[in-house]
Amino acid sequence: METITPRGLDLIGNPVEGRKELGEMVPVQLFRALRLVGVMEGMKEIAGRGANAIIYRGGRNLGLNIGKTISDQLTVPHDLNSYLSGVVNTCQHLGIGLLSIAGGSFDSGKVYLQVDECVSCAGMPDVGEVVCHFEGGMIGGIIENFIHKQVRCKEIKCWGKGDGVCLFEVLI
Ligand SMILES: [Zn+2]
Repeated sequence: METITPRGLDLIGNPVEGRKELGEMVPVQLFRALRLVGVMEGMKEIAGRGANAIIYRGGRNLGLNIGKTISDQLTVPHDLNSYLSGVVNTCQHLGIGLLSIAGGSFDSGKVYLQVDECVSCAGMPDVGEVVCHFEGGMIGGIIENFIHKQVRCKEIKCWGKGDGVCLFEVLI
């Protein structure tokens, strides 16, 4: 018999079923311990400067997954505005952050997306560098899913380097 190994969002399974007493919510502190200490610092020890690219890649895979889910739910197929509001709602609903378009346009080849209250970095100390490579990959993947073309998403503002917000530049 062929075994199908769950991948992507299917790996999450059903935490409500598995955590009857503790429930499905965990503190942001725990998320950050995993994301910043476990993944970011841990991966840097092994992969050095390549760590950010690996983390970006993981975020991109998730973004492609989330993007496809949103696309499948659109009442008007391939409508950019509906797609973007789906993205904004998903980011708020999952507690990732408050996403908004900060400038640019798809036609000009450059789009700026702002994330307020980012789950990974909002309120963290200044460490002299941007830290939201996972989120950048995720945003990149979400956009790639819509335009069917590879993009480059770079974080240019972040709490990690002393800004009070995350700002991502997407080169299409
Ligand atoms: Zn950030």
